[in-house]
Formats: sequence, C-alpha cells, structure tokens
Amino acid sequence: MPRDGRDPGSPTAPALGASQEETRRQNLGAVLRHVHLHGPTSRAELTSRLGLNRSTIGALAGDLATVGLVTEEAAPTAGRRAGRPSLVVSPRSGRVYTKALSIEVDRLRAARIGLGGRILDLRQTDRPPGMSAVDAVGALAALVRDMERLVEADRVCVGGAVAVADSTRAPDGRIRIGGPDDALRAEVAAQFADGPAVVLGDLADIAGLAEHARGAAAGSDDLVYLHGGPGVSAGIIVGGRLVVGHRGHSGKVGHMVVNPDGLPCWCGSRGCWETEIGEAALLRHAGRHADAPGAVAEVLRAAVSGEPTASAAVDHVADWLGFGLANLINVINPHTVVLGGSLRAVHAAGTGTVRRRLDELALPTSAPRQVRLRPAALGRDAALIGAAELAFDQLLADPLSVGVPG
Ligand SMILES: [Zn+2]
Repeated sequence: MPRDGRDPGSPTAPALGASQEETRRQNLGAVLRHVHLHGPTSRAELTSRLGLNRSTIGALAGDLATVGLVTEEAAPTAGRRAGRPSLVVSPRSGRVYTKALSIEVDRLRAARIGLGGRILDLRQTDRPPGMSAVDAVGALAALVRDMERLVEADRVCVGGAVAVADSTRAPDGRIRIGGPDDALRAEVAAQFADGPAVVLGDLADIAGLAEHARGAAAGSDDLVYLHGGPGVSAGIIVGGRLVVGHRGHSGKVGHMVVNPDGLPCWCGSRGCWETEIGEAALLRHAGRHADAPGAVAEVLRAAVSGEPTASAAVDHVADWLGFGLANLINVINPHTVVLGGSLRAVHAAGTGTVRRRLDELALPTSAPRQVRLRPAALGRDAALIGAAELAFDQLLADPLSVGVPG
C-alpha cells in the first residue's frame, strides 16, 4: 500500500545531494500534511513545529495558497498584545476532496472527504447477501455519481480509495473469504476511469491507518488495529509503516489457530481465533440466534447492564481476546493496540480479563502492562477516513503534482 507512515507533519530531512527543488517539494508536503492532520495552524506555530525558518514557511504557505490548497488569514486578535498577528494557514476542505469508499460485509458506503479530513457528503446502502465485491463496485459508483451531481464546478477531486472487507456474506448468510483481488482492481479501474485513480486496500489496514493518523493511535508508530465483526482482522503498523505482506494479505489474525480442538472455521481450518472472538462466538455463548438483526449490539448492551448470560458471554470472549493478543504482542511488540468493531465493547466490558491473560502469557520483554489498549476512536467512519488518507497520499507527498488549479 503506497503510504509512507512517517511521523505525520514532520518535514523530511533532505537526503544528501537532494536538489533544492526536491527539498522544496518535501517541505511543501510537510506544511500541507501538518494542516491536513492538525487543522488551521499559524505560520509561527508551523515555524516551530516543522523546524524551518519564518521566511521559508511564509514562502511555502504562499505557494500552497497560490495553487488553491490552503487559505491564509489573519487570526482574530485576542486583544492582549499589539503587533502583527501571524497568518493562519488552513486546508481548503470544501474545495479539495477525495472519494472515500468502503465495501463492508453488510453495507456499502461512499463519502467525499475534504482536505483536513472533513466528511463533506456521505451515502450508504445495504449490501445484500451474495452481492460480490465486484458487483458492489457498480453500486458504489452509482452512489458517487449521485454525490458528485451536486458538487460545484470549482471543486477538485484529487483521488480515491476503496476499503474492502476481507469477508463477504454468501446468499446462505455464511461468511466467505473476500478482500481486494485483481478482478476487483480491474472493475474499480473501469468504473472510475473518468477521474483520478482510485486505489484499493484491505478494510482493517485502512481503518488502522485512520486510527494512526487521526484516532486512538495518533502519535504511536507501532500499533495493531484489531477489528471484530463477522470476521476478525488486523491492520498492523510497524515503525510507522503499514505491514501488507508479499501479496497484500497480511493481518489475517482471525485465522491464527488458537484452539486446535475448537470449532471448524469457514476458512477450512479449525479453532481459528475468529471462532472464539468473532461476533458468532459472542452470540453462541449468549445463547442468541446468529441471524437476528441487532443481536450483537443487544448482547453487548445487556452485558453492560449486568445481565448474567450476556456478561458471561462477553467475559468468555474477552478471555480468548487476551489469549490471542498476548501472542500478537509477543510477535509484534506494539506500543498501542486499538480495538474496533464488536471487540471495542468486548474489551471495554472485559478489560480485567484481557489484562489478566496478557500478564499471564505475554513475555515480560514485551512489557505487556505498558501496551496501551485503546478503544477505536473513529467508529464506523474509520474505513472512510482511512480511505481518504490513502487517497490524499500523493497530494501530500508532492502538493504541486496533482494539478489543482489555483
Ligand atoms: Zn479460519
């Protein structure tokens, strides 16, 4: 996945022999990335945050304003000090946007997300059981056309990305393997041929990028984002970079075998972590019917209010959650673990159980007590926000390359 996860907002130290033009490109990217991630920032603040001198920041901000990526305005005076106020540099959220799309297990979502991460418009529709991811692209393209009909002519789309869940629901309601593949890539290229490139990524990876950039793991460069739903998968970021694997399919932690005597998994194996901590496991332990709509949320609510069967079910899943997490912590040595989807509530209700397992099973060298376990901060929008981050990547790496008219 083409994202450099280095410390967001930091200027890049020029490589030995880098040309002035290359240095300027990197510094333009650093200024734009800073205001994209942190919002309106004064020139004075940019000067101290990015370690560049005032005149350089002034010139960079001026260049970004000229091409229509930022505005510069005098900050409202607080009335405390006289003197010339520092201009405030703001991303032009309403003008420059990306198409952020998600193919989730049971729904499809499309958003326009502006520079700065603001959701400008959002559409969604159900994804019926049996709808292939390839067919879902046509439905997403229709949502995008519907949104873009209303967009004013001077708005500029600089790219797009689709977050694709690695599970899909078959017509019989069972979960099957899905995720980005070549056929899906070809369909996305065909459906969005008229605009800037639309890239694909795994949904958990992309949600992990979002939590890294703007959510519960902001400032943490070694993290595991763990998402629970019908399936369980992870977005893993090490040293600020997303781990994607040789074919782009790393992070399938739901199929880590934790219980060889456990239940068969839909992947063909037995005792996968997913069979112990996925939504189906929670419902099974709670004695609820798996097909009932809203059943997972109902069990989680009941557990919070102390209903004994639901509480026991959540605690059982929390125990297995801690078991698998201890293994991941031993392998990856993360600074932060972010829990999303159904695992967010499982962890909230069963923190003590999870921590006990980590104390018991994680190596002391991994410092399990220091690992921050955090609830996902971006909720159901994480996939869209992360897709926008991915789609903005080229603009942020080289702000003048994208051809935004001034
Ligand atoms: Zn499996």
